[in-house]
Amino acid sequence: MLKVENITKYYGEHLAVDGLSFEVKNGEIFGLLGENGAGKTTTFRIIMGLLDSSSGKVTLDGKKIDYSMTDKIGFVTEERSLLGKMTVKEQILFYGALKGMKEETILKELDYWLKKFEIEDYLNRKIKELSKGNQQKVQFISAVIHHPKLLILDEPFTGLDPINVKLLKEAIFELQKQGSSIIFSSHQMEHIEEFCEKLVILVKGKVILEGYLEDIKKDYPKKKVVIKADDLKEEKITKVKGVTKIEKKKDEYLISIDRMEVVDPLFQAVKSFSVRKFDVLEPTLNEIFIEKVGALNDK
Ligand code: ATP
Repeated sequence: MLKVENITKYYGEHLAVDGLSFEVKNGEIFGLLGENGAGKTTTFRIIMGLLDSSSGKVTLDGKKIDYSMTDKIGFVTEERSLLGKMTVKEQILFYGALKGMKEETILKELDYWLKKFEIEDYLNRKIKELSKGNQQKVQFISAVIHHPKLLILDEPFTGLDPINVKLLKEAIFELQKQGSSIIFSSHQMEHIEEFCEKLVILVKGKVILEGYLEDIKKDYPKKKVVIKADDLKEEKITKVKGVTKIEKKKDEYLISIDRMEVVDPLFQAVKSFSVRKFDVLEPTLNEIFIEKVGALNDK
């Protein structure tokens, strides 16, 4: 289990991470969210032992993370770190050796991943000759070749097409099943929503929302209703107090309301029409993020 306890990081006078704490259990995928400059990369670097925190503690299975633990950690960072002149095989042999693996084991693992990512023909190709997406797959392989206990994925899907996103997602779920603790950052909320049971949202280094996604959603008022009724008259909806916006999407109406209590009068207003759908929508993580972070930025 990864435990981050009250870490703080100053760059000179600038406070980049402010008392951040969280835990990621084995087999759990954790989301670290925040706008540009919120402190995600700084946090990742502290966790990986590449940067000292100003205060606080990071441990993996109870032990402080330092250089001796690199064989337990794998990471895909935003700055892709491949050596272009090497072939895929040379590159992975190099990374595997750094993690203390035997050549025979590395090659066996590499064969498995190249097949999985459908790039087995690239074994002896130079990295610089590969497309960006395929380079990214190689970077991922270099991060997981040693079955890390802790896997850090900073924007892992950037630049991948939907088919390759799917392949990578399957690989991440596979590592989760094997018991790795995974931390994940992405600006694309639908990825976080699909992956992470637990998350924190950082604003200027400070946690503004944290917990299990399910609980966060439960606590968040549902404020959209979708209605489908062919004969619906829009003015009936406009008249309901608390309706803030009406959008028509194909044959459905998407109604924004300012509080949950509006659902009942809204239903009363439309029930005389031939209603084929009346759904109160769960808020998306994107909506929660924009509302929470946006409100702070407005201050
Ligand atoms: P992004 O989504 O853009 O990658 P981030 O959430 O990863 O952003 P960080 O890179 O951790 O954010 O930066 C957090 C804050 O610390 C920012 O205000 C940034 O300008 C500042 N910062 C980051 N690295 C340094 C550094 N080496 N020296 C001084 N300030 C830094």
